[in-house]
Amino acid sequence: MAELLTIEQAQRLILERVRPLPAERVKLESAAGRVLAEPATALVDLPPFANSAMDGFALRAADTPGTLPVVERIPAGRPAEKSLQAGEAMGIATGGALPEGADAVVPIEYVVERDNEIEIAEPVAPTANVRPRGGDVRAGQGVVAAGARLGPAQLGALAAAGVAEVACGARPRAAVLATGTELRRPGEPLGPGEIYEANGLILGAQLASAGACAERLPAIVDTEQAHREAIARGLEHDLLVTSGGVSVGPHDLVRRIEAELGVEEVFWRVAVKPGKPVSFGVRGSTLVFGLPGNPVSSLVGFELFVRPAVVALQGASEPLPRFEPGRLGSDVRVNPHRDELVRARTRNGEEGAVVLDPLSGQESHMIARASGADALVLLPRGEGELSAGASVRYLRLG
Ligand code: AMP
Ligand code: MG
Repeated sequence: MAELLTIEQAQRLILERVRPLPAERVKLESAAGRVLAEPATALVDLPPFANSAMDGFALRAADTPGTLPVVERIPAGRPAEKSLQAGEAMGIATGGALPEGADAVVPIEYVVERDNEIEIAEPVAPTANVRPRGGDVRAGQGVVAAGARLGPAQLGALAAAGVAEVACGARPRAAVLATGTELRRPGEPLGPGEIYEANGLILGAQLASAGACAERLPAIVDTEQAHREAIARGLEHDLLVTSGGVSVGPHDLVRRIEAELGVEEVFWRVAVKPGKPVSFGVRGSTLVFGLPGNPVSSLVGFELFVRPAVVALQGASEPLPRFEPGRLGSDVRVNPHRDELVRARTRNGEEGAVVLDPLSGQESHMIARASGADALVLLPRGEGELSAGASVRYLRLG
């Protein structure tokens, strides 16, 4: 048998085929989780004016230590009416505009105030507790780079810099198609040999979390006709993700019908456990993923192969999953032929290390066991065992 592709090789083949979708204007209110298509620049200096970092008194540093009259009080949002003269102080709130003529703020805790005068015992340094205009970012400078995903901090930065609308990569339209004659919807009674359909829901949730608009097609039976119709419909999307029917059994029809419908297969099978029979192809601009039917294989295959494509379609600059370092909580056997993704629970270990406890029940049909995991530990193929405490890399599950 020919050498199977590695995970990295397969990911590279996928990303080579991704063409980012066109950008669209998105109001900041609706931009959470979206990927920025163009760098966003500040419309104003941030802060827009020099202001106070503390509740205190604006003054001239040169007048300290000393006793100064308080000639005005400056709340946030309303600048002083006059400029500050030598030998004067003005009360100022956090965020209040530093008055003309002042160069420092002394915090309220450091003065003794009486009869509208303050006594400052220690010298105050020039610029103390003053937030200079443009100290965070200047008008015209970049705030968030193209290709970045907009999380809470990025959205806040854009809002603070006066940006109301941004250019984002369009959300990929994805079709999800579960295949298998045995599949029933939860809520319906199970007949002999039937099981409840889980992958459609898993994949729909994963697609949504990756920023795609997912349409779940009704699950189909293992007939050519049903496959033809449903796959043809799925191919009208930016992305088609099927589950089941990509192995070598006589009822595994997905790849054959896709080929018939003009899908060019880029690869089939990767040296990964679970999820070896995963397939990837393209038709025109549609990316076509065939995930194996076992729910854990489908879940893991999505994280390794589909999520990177979905975020790359949106223009993300770093679409590949980020594995982080951790330590094994117990001994595990490694697989001699395939890199393995082991379902595990994370906990905080000594000295800030993340410890990964592999769950019992690692078979690829065991979605109930897998639901207790918050991480996938990557065990590169090899011989023998990795011992508790060994350094590993893991991917956090959302
Ligand atoms: P397949 O890849 O079609 O050979 O399916 C492999 C295993 O996964 C079989 O035991 C199927 O019954 C099961 N399976 C396939 N599709 C689903 C699904 N959507 N939800 C739950 N289990 C599934
Ligand atoms: Mg099947």
